[in-house]
Order: sequence, then C-alpha cells, then structure tokens
Amino acid sequence: MYKTKFKIKAKHLSKSVIFCGTLFASHLASSEVISSIHPIGFITEALTQNVTEHSILAPVTASPHDYTMRPSDAKALKEAELIIWVGEDLEVFMAKPISNIESTKQLNLSEIPEIKTIIDDKVALSENTIVEHEHEHEHEKHDVNEHAGHNHDRDLHIWMSPEISRIAAKAIAQRLTELHPNQSNIVNDNLAQFLTDLDKTEVELADKLSSVSQKPYFVFHDAYGYFESRFNLNRVGEFTINPTITPGVQQLAKIKETIKKDGVVCIFKEPQFTPAVVNAVVQGTGVKIGELDPVGANIQLSKNSYQEYLKSLADSYLSCLE
Ligand SMILES: [Zn+2]
Repeated sequence: MYKTKFKIKAKHLSKSVIFCGTLFASHLASSEVISSIHPIGFITEALTQNVTEHSILAPVTASPHDYTMRPSDAKALKEAELIIWVGEDLEVFMAKPISNIESTKQLNLSEIPEIKTIIDDKVALSENTIVEHEHEHEHEKHDVNEHAGHNHDRDLHIWMSPEISRIAAKAIAQRLTELHPNQSNIVNDNLAQFLTDLDKTEVELADKLSSVSQKPYFVFHDAYGYFESRFNLNRVGEFTINPTITPGVQQLAKIKETIKKDGVVCIFKEPQFTPAVVNAVVQGTGVKIGELDPVGANIQLSKNSYQEYLKSLADSYLSCLE
C-alpha cells in the first residue's frame, strides 16, 4: 500500500520537474486508467471511484470523428495501466498509437463478444432497410461512406445504448478487479450502484419520452440510433452519416422534401459541428432547431455522469419535440 502511494508520488514529482516552466503539462499526467473519449469516460468514472485514478484522452469539446492526438496523449497512453476505447472505426486517432500497446493494457469495447453481436445485428437490420428503399437511398449511402475513408456502416456510438453500457461496465469492472484485486469489493459496489442507477434512469426516461415518440425529426449526424431505438423515437433522417462531411446540393434538396412530406417538427444540430446547412434548410419552414450533444461536453465527471448524460439527452429531445 505505502509502496504504491510512494510510486505515484514519485511519478508526479518527476513529471512536474519535466514540465516545470512550460505551459504544456498534460492534463493526463497522473492518470492510471484512460478512457478515449468523454462519454466512455462517464462509464469508467463510475467504476474507478475510490479504486484508481482516471482521465479522458480527448478534450471534452472534441469529436471522436476528427480529433488529432497531441504528443502528450501518446505518452499518457504508453504509461496507462489500462486504456478503455471503442474501436478504430470510431476513434481513428487511436488506431496507430494503440497498435503499439499490449492487449492486456487495453479494453476495446466494440470487440467484447456480447457488444459486437449487438453492433452487427444493427448493421443487419439497417441493411434490410436499405434493400427496401434501394432506389431512394442506396447510392447516397454508398457515396458518403466512400468519402469518409472508413467504415461507418457499423454504429459505434455505443454509449447511446444503456444495454451496451451495462455490458461495458461489467467488462471494465472485471479488468479493474484484475488490476486491483485488493479493492475488488469497492469495484463490485461501484458496479452494483451503476447498474441500479441505470435501471432506474432507463425506466424514468422511457416514461418521459413516450409522450414524443410519434414526433418526426431530423438529426445532424447519425449518432443516436441506439438511444432512439431503445426509447422508440421517430427520427426520419439525418444530414450526414459522418459529421466531417456536409451534404451536397442534391441531398439537401431531398432533405427539404422529406422535411415537408413527413411533417418534421425539429432538426437537431450539434455543438461540435454548427453547419450553416441546418439554418439554410430550416429558413422559412417553421421547423424548430434543437441541439443534441453526442459527447456530453457539459456533463461533469462524477460517479453519476452516465445517468446524467442520458437524462440530458432526453431533455434535449423533449425540449424540441414537445
Ligand atoms: Zn458520430
């Protein structure tokens, strides 16, 4: 126990000496467990309480789709005892640095068999939908994915799914127990609390959101699928599959058509991407503009972050759809 403490202190010390006099000291300097992005950190944070230190690699304002790592990030990854991430189809920025890190020191959530099955089932489901609407949409989807340079057919916005988050939490707890066997009781308590709170939150949100389940809306980027299908929301389309690519003229015309035809009541923009296209499409239509934050930049890290995030998402839907 004392030995461990001393080691951590010594580590802090040597780092502050190295960074002394510079403004570039990493916010990750003392981390033990690292989550790749903010919303994954919500889950990890609940489990590391009173067990070990935890930090998040990408800044809160970053989108996993276009974040570029800083040199200090690579260093932090190398020193971490455990890295929790989603997978390289989502976090392109992680692909290279993580390839040099032993598999025992990382947990790729999208590769956990139970989670992988849920992701693949969703792909199969959306492929069926594409076949049904082949003439309308297939070419479009194909083009967008080609330009994106990586596979966006698999929906890796897995933190939108309470079901997946439960599995992820159990897997994270398992790894923490292996790393800190003396604290396994605390880890188990943290996990039990997380699961109980999540059950409660899910019931609460299902009740709240049932009042708007028929309201048609558009999102800016296709990130909310798991949340929408869990709570039976009625998204009729999105501006883009990859948020770094804005839709072209033809696609915008089609979006305008759908908005009219389906009686869309709200279009959700995102704080990370504020595209003029949303305003242009809405102008003169009376359609409301709402905001959804796929990474929960305003949510403070605490043991309740994940539940708070789900609640804030629900509130964002409600405030525009009600
Ligand atoms: Zn996304």
